[in-house]
Amino acid sequence: MSEKRPIRRLLEGVRRFHDNEFPHDHAIFEHLASGQHPHTLFITCADSRIVPELITQTAPGELFVCRNIGNIVPPYNRSSCEDSAVIEYACIELGVKEIVICGHSDCGAMKGLHMPTKTEHMPAVNSWLRNATVVRDTVEAANSGLEGPEAVQSLVEQNVRTQLANLRTHPAIATRLADNSVEMHGWVYNIGAGTIRVFDAEDRELLPMETLLAQLQ
Ligand SMILES: [Zn+2]
Repeated sequence: MSEKRPIRRLLEGVRRFHDNEFPHDHAIFEHLASGQHPHTLFITCADSRIVPELITQTAPGELFVCRNIGNIVPPYNRSSCEDSAVIEYACIELGVKEIVICGHSDCGAMKGLHMPTKTEHMPAVNSWLRNATVVRDTVEAANSGLEGPEAVQSLVEQNVRTQLANLRTHPAIATRLADNSVEMHGWVYNIGAGTIRVFDAEDRELLPMETLLAQLQ
């Protein structure tokens, strides 16, 4: 028997959503039809294994999601990229209260940073990853000689730390940070364990999520 085409699986999924989920949560969708008020800008990798609403157990309308390869946010530059527009819209128009940047284990972008030959046949990917060469330089300066999965994990973690710093260069965020109306959080998601570790307030150390939760209570 031939395997079902992915597009068929998608369309059948839409039908199940419309017939089963949509009527069940009709009130939510009716409310959302006329506007959105997400509380969080969630920046993460395009990786298919990261499903923000699933891992945070949030509903439609709660997360304003920005995804790209490697959850990279270049420092602010007036002429720059799509990320700046997403950040401005989230911070100025939507008034999000939290910004989460979420990296993850086994990240293909970080593997590409570690071994540039893996991406040399993809000029656009190569060019995009150049925005994160500082991450590789920082890891090599601190831990030269790391190899394999350890090196990739180290890049994953440093990448989140670097992107937190880059985010602060965006005026739309800097203004909101200045009056304490937004908070930033660096997360690292472990795909195989289903867990999150979070950076401490100084972005120095990754702590188990439970530690941060206890501080919030
Ligand atoms: Zn990734």
